[in-house]
Amino acid sequence: MMNSCIFCNIPSENKLMETQNFYVLFDINPVQEGHLLIISKAHIMNVVNLDETMLLELGKLEQSLVTIIEANFDVLGVTLERNNGRTMMAGTHFHEHLIPRYPGDKFFDNQEIVKFELDTDRLKALIIEN
Ligand SMILES: [Zn+2]
Repeated sequence: MMNSCIFCNIPSENKLMETQNFYVLFDINPVQEGHLLIISKAHIMNVVNLDETMLLELGKLEQSLVTIIEANFDVLGVTLERNNGRTMMAGTHFHEHLIPRYPGDKFFDNQEIVKFELDTDRLKALIIEN
């Protein structure tokens, strides 16, 4: 059966490493040099759909990759970003961005975000109740 999903068909030469459930690759449209992706092998769209095995695997991969970058390059640190829910294009794969950070890189300064109202008291109450 043909599967035309580009994330199911990542060329093997683009895969830096893999675990049971994830691949590690360079982002094809990096916001910074060394911008990496951890991407799920399965069609999972949200962190809430990762099982405990995958969560542990993802956490260990994060630790391993952050350690490699921080120990070998003169970075301030690494910013991790995961998108979830309808921020994800339908049919894509769960993924996390790992972006090397530097003093004065203006990473957050360049995000011009349109602010929406959100009931933060309700959010606080929901978190506390949980
Ligand atoms: Zn796919």
